[in-house]
Amino acid sequence: MAETLEKLDDLVSLCKRRGFIFQSSEIYGGLASCYDYGPLGAELKRNVKNAWWKSVVQMRDDMVGLDCSILMHPLVWKASGHVDKFADLITECKKCNSRFRADHLADENGNTMEGASKAEHLKDKICPHPKCKCVGDFTDPMPFRLMFETQMGANADDSMTVYLRPETAQGIFANYKNVLDSTRMKVPFGIAQIGKSFRNEVTTKAFIFRTREFEQMEIEFFCEPGTDEQWYEHWKEHRMKWYTDLGINPDNLRMRDHASDELAHYAKGCVDVEYKFPFGQGDWQELEGIANRTDYDLRRHQCGMRSTTSWFENNRDTEKTTIATENEDYHKGPLSFFDDQAKKRYIPYVIEPSAGADRGTLAFLVDAYAVEQLEKDTRSVFRFHPKLAPVKVAVFPLVKKDGMPEKAKEIYDDLKPHFNCNFDVKGAVGRRYRRQDEIGTPFCVTVDGQTAEDQTVTVRERDSMEQTRISVDKVKSYLREKLDM
Ligand code: ATP
Repeated sequence: MAETLEKLDDLVSLCKRRGFIFQSSEIYGGLASCYDYGPLGAELKRNVKNAWWKSVVQMRDDMVGLDCSILMHPLVWKASGHVDKFADLITECKKCNSRFRADHLADENGNTMEGASKAEHLKDKICPHPKCKCVGDFTDPMPFRLMFETQMGANADDSMTVYLRPETAQGIFANYKNVLDSTRMKVPFGIAQIGKSFRNEVTTKAFIFRTREFEQMEIEFFCEPGTDEQWYEHWKEHRMKWYTDLGINPDNLRMRDHASDELAHYAKGCVDVEYKFPFGQGDWQELEGIANRTDYDLRRHQCGMRSTTSWFENNRDTEKTTIATENEDYHKGPLSFFDDQAKKRYIPYVIEPSAGADRGTLAFLVDAYAVEQLEKDTRSVFRFHPKLAPVKVAVFPLVKKDGMPEKAKEIYDDLKPHFNCNFDVKGAVGRRYRRQDEIGTPFCVTVDGQTAEDQTVTVRERDSMEQTRISVDKVKSYLREKLDM
């Protein structure tokens, strides 16, 4: 019998105890909503990102990667609409003065509401602040800008306000032409990027689910208008399969179409890939958004490119700059694509699968977590897919004598260049197995008394706990096959 996770706190404390995730700046009392990945968490998250990169870049002929700087020309964010529109509607509780996202306030039955725009809509809503918990005494919702600003440049006369990027996507749009000009890519093709993004979220919650600094894994896939629906379907299927291939229980995963009033004005379609987290407001929460963004972004950047002059004339004031209006022949603009076979020019449509690396990591942690009742005791285990497991193999001597530690060390040294390995000699071997189960190590190799006699070891598998005797010279190839590495 296996128990899955019921309380987020159990996961949070296990993650801290075993070095997956720590509160940021903990020695100074912590910094809210910021987290650090410890030794095992860094491996896990890196494996998530590598698995994504392999699936969307390495394995495809129609995709390339990119790694943009976080700071970009501020007009990028003006043209994209973020400077003027990237805000959440917030409301203030008149009693405790705490601010909340209007759409996150719950009614007395715990249901949240989308699109709250007036205080009267918030009448029976509950303030989730622990100090107050009052019902329905809120100010009219007002916009709260989510982009972090900082100053760039040391001289007063040429320093300017720049933004920490709130998404990685715009760096892809800004480099789309560079990629076309420097590679042999032709539409349809896509650009993928993994990197940090920053949002001054009004409410952060649920561990690494919503933080103010996070990592995104984003794709912009450029295609000919008219083929966009087909690519949209392709990416929906591709991305769902990625999660389930990496072990996410399909019962905990679903796609939810955005309702028409939820859809961004430029988007032709949008679905959220949602995971059934065992906590939060209603269980299903977004892991990834997949949107058909049409030709909106490239068209906006064509206008933005023409606005640079006014930006300089405006003493570099992004807020005051008005983005140039669109030319009638925009489809021939600098960001258009010329299809030399069909002899036509157009602005490509874009399908955007946009995933969170931290939210994904949280879903993989939650989905893999189990506490199992065994005959004599219980064990806590992360049933990670081998590709994601932070440690792939642990090597032990059964006891600390008769040359077993030396032989085990020899095997460990031989495996180390190929897999992320642990070597452990401390305590009873059963305890060592449990420690590895708890961090999700798929295989343990044990040197015992028989090893010296016939050059075999036991290989124990995490999920079935079955042990197989294998000759020492076959261990590497056995693990390679089982781990698919
Ligand atoms: P939400 O509605 O949860 O705020 P969103 O719809 O604003 O998310 P997108 O702008 O579509 O999110 O970003 C794409 C992905 O980036 C999300 O699906 C999520 O995985 C991740 N993401 C966005 N904001 C955060 C955050 N504050 N913390 C962690 N991950 C985030």
